[in-house]
Amino acid sequence: MASKKDISTNTVSKIKQLRKQETSIESLVDGIFRGDKAILAKAITLLESAKPEHFEKANAIIEKCLSKPSKSIRIGITGVPGVGKSSFIEVFGKTLTGLGKKVAVLAVDPTSTLTKGSILGDKTRMETLAKDPNAFIRPSPSGESLGGVARKTRESIILCEAAGYDIILVETVGVGQSETVVHSMVDFFLLLKLSGAGDELQGIKRGIMEMADAIAINKADGDNLKKAKLAETEFSRALHLYPPKENGWTPKVMSCSSIENKGILEIWQMVTDFVSNNQQNDFFEKNRKMQNKNWFLQTVDEQLKQFFHQKRYYKEIKEKMLKAVEQNRISPFYAAKTVLDHITKELK
Ligand code: GDP
Repeated sequence: MASKKDISTNTVSKIKQLRKQETSIESLVDGIFRGDKAILAKAITLLESAKPEHFEKANAIIEKCLSKPSKSIRIGITGVPGVGKSSFIEVFGKTLTGLGKKVAVLAVDPTSTLTKGSILGDKTRMETLAKDPNAFIRPSPSGESLGGVARKTRESIILCEAAGYDIILVETVGVGQSETVVHSMVDFFLLLKLSGAGDELQGIKRGIMEMADAIAINKADGDNLKKAKLAETEFSRALHLYPPKENGWTPKVMSCSSIENKGILEIWQMVTDFVSNNQQNDFFEKNRKMQNKNWFLQTVDEQLKQFFHQKRYYKEIKEKMLKAVEQNRISPFYAAKTVLDHITKELK
């Protein structure tokens, strides 16, 4: 007769086996393809993990997910804290699910990485959308670098698409380079702005204006309405000064109010106009391919750098040359060449 101990050991190993089956690559991919939110979340956790064994597994899942065709639209949404991003996404997301779309909301929040505090991670955000069966909301991954956070978000997009989400919203705050990295993973980039006292264009990073496919003046309601209309004119005029975009699209300026649900459907209409414009001139696919190539090249560069930075022979020669440069004994360029010659010799 089996002892109590045998039974409990058996139970534990059975549970372990079941868990293993549940988290096997096949069952995770299966769950994702079925649109199971809990499994999608589990798979995203896996790709966010720093453990090497998770890395291989996550890659296998991503590869399988890539093979599933998707007609998704990826939309980046940026704006300073308080501009109304989460309120906008809530109403915009509900509008889209109302149109029969499945909406995933992801975030790139570098502040959660740098200070452990988070601007976008507040749990009470987007409560209504979070309860919608056709919406999936995932807070920003954490990581040591913006690059790491960006990679994880980018891969999460692939999993969400394989799970049938046809609209992917990627939210970010204007901190550091976060807008640039989000811009490089989406099809459409929306900048939310507030109307001010006439000096709208001051204090806005030039680069963001260039990246934006549209600017939405938010909180265009109540006493703000008039100011919002003025801001609309001012931004439209400013955007006309920028050179035309490669896809032939002229960035649009609109105003909206999440509280009054005004201008939201119009923004969606504009996004669909943009998408059909880009599909007609082949820019949609071209842009995605270019983004993929850039991500690949950037990642190789980063990994090469990491590879050498860990090598003792690199560290030693680098320190030696750094001292020599500091003491003005060698030119910075000759020092760099010396480092490279040294590495080449080591690699032979
Ligand atoms: P986020 O930090 O950019 O995500 O901004 P939130 O969505 O949290 O909004 C910041 C504040 O602005 C909140 O108090 C909202 O109630 C308010 N707000 C958001 N959207 C609107 C809007 O369309 N009109 C008005 N009047 N207030 C809004």
